[in-house]
Amino acid sequence: MSRRALYWGNVPVPYATLWSAEEGMHVAACQYANGLTALCQASRRGQGKPVFGKPHMVRQREVISLSLCDLCARPLRNTTRVSLSHARVQPHGAEGPAVLQVEPMLHRQCAAISMQHCPSLRRDIAAGTLHIRQVLRSRAQLAIMTPEAVEEFTGTPRSGVIGHAKIELLEWRDRELEWLGSPAVQPDIHQPAAREEVANGCWEKEGGDCG
Ligand SMILES: [Zn+2]
Repeated sequence: MSRRALYWGNVPVPYATLWSAEEGMHVAACQYANGLTALCQASRRGQGKPVFGKPHMVRQREVISLSLCDLCARPLRNTTRVSLSHARVQPHGAEGPAVLQVEPMLHRQCAAISMQHCPSLRRDIAAGTLHIRQVLRSRAQLAIMTPEAVEEFTGTPRSGVIGHAKIELLEWRDRELEWLGSPAVQPDIHQPAAREEVANGCWEKEGGDCG
């Protein structure tokens, strides 16, 4: 599936964000869950409206298992990795303090862009409920759902079904908002000149560089 950048008006839509035409869940084998049975959703990215703040089950696992950026879906390898997450530090992880989060990580520039466009992120930072962390060491995990939760989402109870992927942060630095820098002075992934209009007010762009 194409990982090209999509826009809703002027707002870049994170790759993993759910679109309204994709709502509804079913159970199927998922390549981003090691081929195991997982909670899945139809793949219709760019159709309907973006449901900001809600990840698509398969793309959420895809970006985490392949270590891609939540916003631009390009690799995070050898770049500064940023976590914007509501998850708190758990003091007693297997290897010491850890953070277990469902939010995929971002390039530093992509985190700055997200912050610029998303009022709820800025509100939560100000309220102290969203944390900015530079991630130094992490690992991916797969969450197994209870049969009751699977029934709630699909109508049929089933055990052993994978839900979200999770990222366990093992080493990080807490960062301030200013550390992300200004998206305006950095090479932008959404240069107006490179845009193409697509259906229902959504914009796309091929290529581009990020992070
Ligand atoms: Zn990015």
